Amino acid sequence: MPQLRPGPISYSRSITLTLTHDCPWHCRYCGFRSDGEGLLSEDSLNTLLLSARQQRAREALLISGEHPDQLPHIKKELHARGFTDFIDFASYVARRALDSGLLPHGNYGALNLEQLLRLRPTHVSMGLMLENIEDLPDIAPEKRSSGRLKTLTAAGQAKIAFTSGILIGLGESLESRFRSLDALARSHREYGQLQEILIQNFIPNHASSLPPDCPIPGLQDYFDLISYWREICPEVPIQIPPNLNPHWRELLPYVDDLGGISSHRDEVNPLNPWAPPQHYQDAAHAAARDLQERLPIYPSHHHSAWLDPALIPMTF
Ligand code: SF4
Repeated sequence: MPQLRPGPISYSRSITLTLTHDCPWHCRYCGFRSDGEGLLSEDSLNTLLLSARQQRAREALLISGEHPDQLPHIKKELHARGFTDFIDFASYVARRALDSGLLPHGNYGALNLEQLLRLRPTHVSMGLMLENIEDLPDIAPEKRSSGRLKTLTAAGQAKIAFTSGILIGLGESLESRFRSLDALARSHREYGQLQEILIQNFIPNHASSLPPDCPIPGLQDYFDLISYWREICPEVPIQIPPNLNPHWRELLPYVDDLGGISSHRDEVNPLNPWAPPQHYQDAAHAAARDLQERLPIYPSHHHSAWLDPALIPMTF
């Protein structure tokens, strides 16, 4: 059994800006990707930013498929709209979010150091799930954990506060989950970039086609992973997404954060909407804890070493 956590459990009041669902890869668990949708339009961006103000969101979660500008139609649209590449577009959307009083957290798949450095001036933090240290070619044919670890390293070199984590329930070995946590802890020991990790479970969606015999993680699996992370990297908080995890109430005493909560749909898991924050507040109270709003930059990284100087005044 993991140790009980003292103090409140946190969440971020967020809104998701999906820059594009289009993705050249074909992960068999993905309910997010599309093939020909194109980029977020100016009209949709304006509507979402207005809605964010009405919801009093602080975080703009900017997401996309991986390497979308490898797709010819995306490249063409970027150029037609005056952007040099996808990073230029992501920086523009993040700047619009900042101008609306939101703090951008970007997750655009694997990126290199040069791309991360270009995004740093408009993003208070970024993220990329390691998912698993082992490649799963039958499940995610194009994804490579080596590329994801390189992004994690580059985020540390670029001094970007970073969220990562593992994805479980894909048929991966139990042992690989612990080795994945080892890899995250190793990278954090070297660069200090992790502000939190997610222990996230796969749940089926309208497009997923995993083998039917993939075991579903049980409560003890979460307890074992949480306990292990506390041993190897006690300073980095653990997030679980309550709209995805069937054991979230039982896990409340042991974790630190519930992630972004929005009244819009979960774009990555559209079949699993969040409840209003009050629902999670009541559950936290039942677990003898309080629910506290946080920013998309954690206190551990909320200073000049990890934030572009121009962003610091906006984070208070
Ligand atoms: S999980 Fe990510 S990389 Fe894989 S298909 Fe979906 S959007 Fe693309």
